[in-house]
Amino acid sequence: MSMLADLRKFSRRDRVFSHLIRADQLEVDTSKGHILYIEDLSVSFDGFKAIDNLNLYIGDGELRCIIGPNGAGKTTLMDIITGKTRPDSGTVFFGQYTDLLEFSEAEIAQIGIGRKFQKPTVFEQHSVFENLELAMAANKRVWHSLSAQLTAEQKDRIDEILVQASLIDFKHQPAKLLSHGQKQWLEIAMLVMQEPRLLLVDEPVAGMTHQEMDKTAELLHQLAGRHSVVVVEHDMDFVRSIASEVTVLHQGSVLAEGTMEELQSNPKVVEVYLGE
Ligand code: ADP
Ligand code: MG
Repeated sequence: MSMLADLRKFSRRDRVFSHLIRADQLEVDTSKGHILYIEDLSVSFDGFKAIDNLNLYIGDGELRCIIGPNGAGKTTLMDIITGKTRPDSGTVFFGQYTDLLEFSEAEIAQIGIGRKFQKPTVFEQHSVFENLELAMAANKRVWHSLSAQLTAEQKDRIDEILVQASLIDFKHQPAKLLSHGQKQWLEIAMLVMQEPRLLLVDEPVAGMTHQEMDKTAELLHQLAGRHSVVVVEHDMDFVRSIASEVTVLHQGSVLAEGTMEELQSNPKVVEVYLGE
């Protein structure tokens, strides 16, 4: 039976709740094991179906890669999840009860979906530490006054993420001195400071060296578990090295899902994508 059938029973309740609870206080119910439920999703631009009856479930704490040829709908899918684009039909639930289509883009960010765009946008003049401090200050859940001092626990949390992002040695350097790859990690670390339940990362390794790619794979693995992470990526070597469940998008719908090994021997996938 469709997972949505269960959800429908509760969607009325959720509608009532979503008006009573402030977006940044909303708890996301993942007791059934999934953080994201997307069903029968479609959107057209001038008659062209960019997303076409797409179904996708992301497990809570999972690290998932989404691949697919140019124009497959990967970015459009992220735009819909984050509220930037409204679908023509279908449903997007965050946890079991939270209907994302009822929230604005700003509210979706507040309830715990963080998005990393391709181009890093860090505060160049500020130190690496200050960048993370600022990102933490933007998190209304843990921080109520900009003038307040960081607690020891918050400082530890920043150090923890700096270690994970291989930036601890650069803690007091201005962000402008970081390499392109390091800036990408800093931006991921800044997103993590907002404590998103779900982190969407669009093409994180574009322009990175192989060594940086390996570290990025490691970082994303470390973030999974505590967060759910969805990575859209073109680079096959990188996706292979991440070694997680992979979803192949093609013409706006899911063509196949599995490990890279399984997908490489799937004739449909080879034909549209891997065989290029
Ligand atoms: P991907 O990220 O997989 O390369 P996109 O989601 O960017 O694919 O695009 C899917 C298709 O939808 C493409 O053909 C693109 O030209 C089209 N598209 C995306 N956004 C828009 C938009 N805002 N207006 C018109 N067409 C769009
Ligand atoms: Mg794209």
